[in-house]
Amino acid sequence: MRSHYCGELTAKNISEIVTLCGWVHRRRDHGGVIFLDLRDREGITQVVFDPDRAESFALADSVRNEYVVKVTGLVRARPEGTTNANMTTGEIELLGHELEILNKSATPPFQLDEHQSVGEDVRLKNRFVDLRRPEIQQKLRFRSKVTSVLRRYLDENGFLDIETPILTRATPEGARDYLVPSRTHQGSFFALPQSPQLFKQLLMVSGFDRYYQIAKCFRDEDLRADRQPEFTQIDLETSFLGQEDIMSLTEGMISNLFKELKGVDLGEFPRMPFSEAMEKYGSDKPDLRIPLTIETVSDLMTEVDFKVFSGPAADPKGRVAALKVPGGNALTRKQIDEYTKFVGIYGAKGLAYIKVNDKSDLEEGLQSPIVKFLPTEVRQALLDRVAAEDGDLIFFGADKASIVNEALGALRCKLGADLDLYTCEWAPLWVVDFPMFEETPDGGVTAIHHPFTAPSCSPEELQAKPLEALSQAYDMVLNGTELGGGSIRIHQAEMQQTVFGLLNISPEEQREKFGFLLDALKFGAPPHGGLAFGLDRLVMLMTGSSSIRDVIAFPKTQSATCLLTQAPGEVSEKQLKELSIRVRKPVTE
Ligand code: ASP
Repeated sequence: MRSHYCGELTAKNISEIVTLCGWVHRRRDHGGVIFLDLRDREGITQVVFDPDRAESFALADSVRNEYVVKVTGLVRARPEGTTNANMTTGEIELLGHELEILNKSATPPFQLDEHQSVGEDVRLKNRFVDLRRPEIQQKLRFRSKVTSVLRRYLDENGFLDIETPILTRATPEGARDYLVPSRTHQGSFFALPQSPQLFKQLLMVSGFDRYYQIAKCFRDEDLRADRQPEFTQIDLETSFLGQEDIMSLTEGMISNLFKELKGVDLGEFPRMPFSEAMEKYGSDKPDLRIPLTIETVSDLMTEVDFKVFSGPAADPKGRVAALKVPGGNALTRKQIDEYTKFVGIYGAKGLAYIKVNDKSDLEEGLQSPIVKFLPTEVRQALLDRVAAEDGDLIFFGADKASIVNEALGALRCKLGADLDLYTCEWAPLWVVDFPMFEETPDGGVTAIHHPFTAPSCSPEELQAKPLEALSQAYDMVLNGTELGGGSIRIHQAEMQQTVFGLLNISPEEQREKFGFLLDALKFGAPPHGGLAFGLDRLVMLMTGSSSIRDVIAFPKTQSATCLLTQAPGEVSEKQLKELSIRVRKPVTE
């Protein structure tokens, strides 16, 4: 139908007769002349109709926003003084000869340039209109480029794109499963994959050597923060490569992507042990753009006459830590109160602080509600520990280590953003040497990565001291966001059974749930390992979006519904009968 896209016409096309198809972005009546801004995915061209051509002029007069039209006309230079340097097509306009209305449009639920004022629910309900916005079109086009660059890299490195099932058995990644009832085996359920983990491992057992897939994954989680119940992973697995090889291969993949699409050189990614990340940054995904670090001061506080500090300082699971904010003296009482409220979200019961006005005067130079509890030598040791200067402020966390880490870790990021402390635009790193397990409240253990991750020790050592064992897992982190994570896998049945046993999965349950994996490990499983990247999150970071919903064409809401299709929805009695399901209606009061 068309000869050109609207957005591609430039001065080079002057004097050509062209045909454009697109949406009426805006219609303006300028006393006797009608202007239509015609939009398609490549951009906007200004089309002018004058009354000489009465028929098309009358039609142009009748169109409204978002009508779909086809225009044939002459490309000409815009009159002097009316060019627009901000638009690719800003030097030209189209003198409309013929106009055809291909389809009308009802008044759109919101004007494209008013998306901000309508609220996200209106946008998601009318996503087909929302997706017309140039900004979101750019993002989805960028996403397509990302997958194409990644595919090319993986292709060049010998990876095969192989699909794995969506209707499957549970693949534990720490979330709830989405279940699908079977009609042919009534009372039985498929689970949607939380990841293709077990299938990609089986592909290695089968000798494919290098696999990848741009895979949909499903996790029924309470949607904290910015998560989606279905999301996309760039999932990969390799055989006969060690941790270092896999890390350098995938680091190369991400570096190449940033170079090609953003012209950014990410440099070599530093490595950081998990223990250091938690200790200094209170997080296993530290944002290294922010120069603040957390310092342990428990050893200074065991004897002080201040229970809030001495309690956690003496508790093996407790921690007292300091976070110095250079120049933080300028924070107001109100700001400090807000930060106190903020750390409360993470379970901190308060936020003690010291303002360092004059570090040479340990009596009068320190301003703080708690300094009176600290003997002079502790004050001095503290200032030395955090290398405080006049004008600094020191925040404290004192509680269970997990609470201190979470609270001060989050505060560190918030201060970084609020005070704009960023030292660079991109800060990638690898976090390595994760523990295999963490303790559950009931005294058991749970896998930090997933139960198929290989430990760095023998089955006997693992059995003896599970909580001390490290795993061969690695996470790639960028700007405080986990871009991807993976591990070397267990490839021997005995080790796998040891891990299942530690996770309190009985031999019968192991057989029932993972029999196929245990069998496969017995039939010549090669050493293997891999990694998966979150595509949505990667594109969000690269496009500077504030939510992953902005880089997903049809995202779900925070409560896991689709406002557009109204999914999930009820089904007919007949369908339920076929599945032999009776729905227990939730009791309403
Ligand atoms: N399956 C893991 C995940 O989804 C990634 C991996 O270990 O490769 O987190």
